[in-house]
Amino acid sequence: MAKDLSTEDMVILLERLSRLVRAQEHASDINPAQWEALRYLSRCNRFSDSPAALTRYLSATKGTISQTLIALERKGLLTKTRRPDEARSVVLALTPAGEEKLQDDPWRQIYAMIEASGVKTRKRLAAGSSRLVGQIIKSRGLPSYGSCGSCRYFREGGAPRDVKGKHWCLLFEQPITKSETEKICTSHDAA
Ligand code: SF4
Repeated sequence: MAKDLSTEDMVILLERLSRLVRAQEHASDINPAQWEALRYLSRCNRFSDSPAALTRYLSATKGTISQTLIALERKGLLTKTRRPDEARSVVLALTPAGEEKLQDDPWRQIYAMIEASGVKTRKRLAAGSSRLVGQIIKSRGLPSYGSCGSCRYFREGGAPRDVKGKHWCLLFEQPITKSETEKICTSHDAA
């Protein structure tokens, strides 16, 4: 039955899916912008954990992000601290309560459904959704925001003896751990 869907039907379903999750976000005790900020902070690397990076990633205004961060801090879900050696730069981090809050993320239901689907479905979904997002980003001239594996600054195994991480970022001239290479970076530049 699904294969008979028209393109318009598929777009309507995507819109409906997004709307259903958004309704759940609104029904919780934090708003959709706050959910987006929590998700981002759980996925970004250490070069991308600032209010400015979050603002760029969400394509939001400074004012919206500022209000969002104030609300999350007041609820005890994140902390703002000064970046070492950069007095004017702020580091954002989730608190344990913020990490725990993400267990209630309305998108987790979709995550679980995709996890439970077959290999073919997952592969098609991965290919289709990556292509769609990539095309929209390209058509609007937005930054790619990927992870190290597809970045031109990444040197796999470039710091073999560094205890802080065996991979290397040419842009920041810093070692990177394996787990960091999988996180979102707002300085990503497609290779
Ligand atoms: S290699 Fe690219 S994606 Fe990775 S930290 Fe450096 S700039 Fe960011």
